[in-house]
Amino acid sequence: VHKTLERQIIRFYGSLDSVPDNLKPLLELISKTYTGNDGEYNLMERALDISSKELTEANKLLREENEEIEQRVQERTEELTQERRKLDKIAQHMNTGAILLDEEANVTFINNKAKRIIDLGKENNNKVLDKLFDKFKKFPLRGYLERCMKGDTVEVSEVEAGYYIYEILFQSLRSDTDDKEGYFGHMIWIRNITDEKLLERSKSELVAVASHQLRTPLTVTKGNTEMLLDGSLGDLNDEQREVIRQTYESNEQLIILVNQMLDITKIEKETISKDNFVKIAVDKILKNSVDDLDAFADKNNVNIKYSDLGGDFEAFANVARLHQVFQNLIENAIKYCKNETNGVCPVGISIRSENDQIEIKISDAGIGIPQQEKDKIFERFYRASNAVRVESAGTGLGLYIVKSVVDRLGGSVRFESKEGQGTTFFLRLPVANSPAIK
Ligand code: ADP
Repeated sequence: VHKTLERQIIRFYGSLDSVPDNLKPLLELISKTYTGNDGEYNLMERALDISSKELTEANKLLREENEEIEQRVQERTEELTQERRKLDKIAQHMNTGAILLDEEANVTFINNKAKRIIDLGKENNNKVLDKLFDKFKKFPLRGYLERCMKGDTVEVSEVEAGYYIYEILFQSLRSDTDDKEGYFGHMIWIRNITDEKLLERSKSELVAVASHQLRTPLTVTKGNTEMLLDGSLGDLNDEQREVIRQTYESNEQLIILVNQMLDITKIEKETISKDNFVKIAVDKILKNSVDDLDAFADKNNVNIKYSDLGGDFEAFANVARLHQVFQNLIENAIKYCKNETNGVCPVGISIRSENDQIEIKISDAGIGIPQQEKDKIFERFYRASNAVRVESAGTGLGLYIVKSVVDRLGGSVRFESKEGQGTTFFLRLPVANSPAIK
């Protein structure tokens, strides 16, 4: 009989034997149930014992793994902190001023050089942009920053403050994804370029003086050859006339070259200060340039189609310079609009304004620009091989002048071209009331 049952029977009947016979089968059944319970109880106890051991073991493993991960995170954090410190040090001691802005234009970092340039004392970062705009108050920097906030990269190449000349670059920091809105901040780089600029200016000065000196003899040669050609100095035979005509043509080329070199030295001196801008109607200047080149187009069998696509065409610029830009681009479109059949070559000129930008498109169906020479086309004196073949007259300075002027007006110029099929130049200028001009 199960021990517990036995104790209870003895307490009740005195001994096991005193239990009445008719109850014995019942007692046997109860005794078995007690024993069965004990078995299950033992089994459970053993199972619990095993799982608690396993749990302790697993816990220990987990703790060890956790410690290892913590150790690794700590080491990596330390490494990253070191890297960051190194980068901070480099940025702090760079010879270029660096200001980092978040996507809402709050300044999150400024290095020592930038602090010195904008004379930032103990003021906090909220004052950085005000001090920057104040330091260069003659220039529309606020507008350039606004353009940068929209994703443009804006380079302002000659920003003067007192004796010093700076180059300022506004750059959007794009995240790696191709998402257009994906900017994680903006950078303003300020580089002191006083020494390079002064050297460049003294070189320009030399070119300016030399070009100026060349003008008088060139004008004399022009006058004399003209007199010979128009017969004022007596008749010439055909051979003499041809020699004088070639001399006259070469002299004309030299005059163009000298004038363009003088123009470049003048443009380089014109800083992009708000003081130099005047409000002008760009469409009127473009139309004038087209009219001025009407006869040249006819002579070259070119048909110009002008389209005004509407919008606000008021911009800040220098009238003579903008006229020069349009003349260069349209003259090129006419000059290089040579097609195989020698039939009439079409040149399309259009102007429209959208989103604070005036866009002028000048396209021709001419010789195009060879793919491998596209990068060099805005360089000084560069003429593409196919252009030299079809048109010997040319200096390679026109597009350089165009880009220099357009950059100074806060605009941009680019082109698309296919050799043998034609070229389109796209010129963009900010409208007068756009943020870029504020
Ligand atoms: P130029 O016309 O005096 O050679 P530019 O500076 O105006 O000098 O142009 C530089 C070069 O760019 C040209 O020599 C020519 O190779 C190329 N170019 C410019 N405009 C065109 C055009 N519309 N079509 C084809 N090539 C062009």
